Amino acid sequence: MSRFWSAVTHGLTPYVPGEQPKLANLVKLNTNENPYPPSPKVLEAIAKATNDTLRLYPDPNSDALRAAIAVFHGVTADQVFVGNGSDEVLAHTFLGLLKHDRPILFPDISYSFYPVYCGLYQIAHREIPLAEDFSLRVDDYLNTPNGTPNGGIIFPNPNAPTGRALAVSEVERLLAGNPDSVVVVDEAYGDFCAESAVALIQQYPQLLVVRTLSKAHSLAGLRVGYALGQAGLIEGLNRVKDSFNSYPLDRLAQAGATACMQDRAYLEATLGQVIASRERLTAGLTALGFLVLPSGANFVFARHLDHDGAALTAALRARSILVRHFKQPARIAPFLRISVGTDPECVRLLQALREICG
Ligand SMILES: *Cc1c(COP(=O)(O)O)cnc(C)c1O
Repeated sequence: MSRFWSAVTHGLTPYVPGEQPKLANLVKLNTNENPYPPSPKVLEAIAKATNDTLRLYPDPNSDALRAAIAVFHGVTADQVFVGNGSDEVLAHTFLGLLKHDRPILFPDISYSFYPVYCGLYQIAHREIPLAEDFSLRVDDYLNTPNGTPNGGIIFPNPNAPTGRALAVSEVERLLAGNPDSVVVVDEAYGDFCAESAVALIQQYPQLLVVRTLSKAHSLAGLRVGYALGQAGLIEGLNRVKDSFNSYPLDRLAQAGATACMQDRAYLEATLGQVIASRERLTAGLTALGFLVLPSGANFVFARHLDHDGAALTAALRARSILVRHFKQPARIAPFLRISVGTDPECVRLLQALREICG
């Protein structure tokens, strides 16, 4: 607290990221990073870009990277926006595309950064409860309670922290029923499941799909995220970006991310490993008496039928194993969100849980 703060700063409730402790020998399953290293081609490209050109500003439009993303997804470069992590892309989206005079809608259980952006940019919002089984009910976004139109819709797919995926046919039903609202599908974990809303972009001018290199691409440390949508939405995001920071991606990030998007074979190999480990982890947890929600992501959301979520998290921590626990809302307090690690890490987690749960 300081008397020099603005009124806005006083009113903020900042996001609390999962901890990044500087301890050795940790099994770190709390922030959904990829347990595998980035593609060797990414490291080569960054090494190659590490030279005296660092004295020059980077390309403000990240043209080479946007071209590589466009090829990856089969869209055009003017349908691609890039930012310093998808969190920055989301922030610009809230200000540039979701801030209108009506409340925006998102699930009551979803990425906890969304209400933070609403606070920062003073955007009214309404949280729509997920169903009992934590699935998103599209009907709840078609007919809002008092019949008033919404100011936009955002949700992660697969959802975080539940891991549950919504079928693309359902995303399309939501789009068809909301022709006048921007609909943002946050596909931070989209690479880990079969379906993507990217295929719907050409048909729905209100659709923005946000993706990141932090999870499936093993590049959380490089801070690169992007959005795909029709050129009008992308132009809006560029207007915000050029009113905030014209050079959000540095030279090394642009070089590494471009090489990353060009190495699809490496991505597919690591995806296969993570998905196979996710299925083994799910089976192992189920055998220990956990209820595990079906996951389309690189983490699982699980509760033990007899042990409390906070107590399990603390007991794991005492054994140098980090998982994520959310106290709020109350109905997810019994759950642990466990990132899928390497197989040896998953085995260590299961062994520890076997000791703790008896
Ligand atoms: C991890 C995550 C992000 C942020 O990713 P960055 O690109 O690392 O900023 C955005 N949305 C969801 C749902 C996430 O889980």
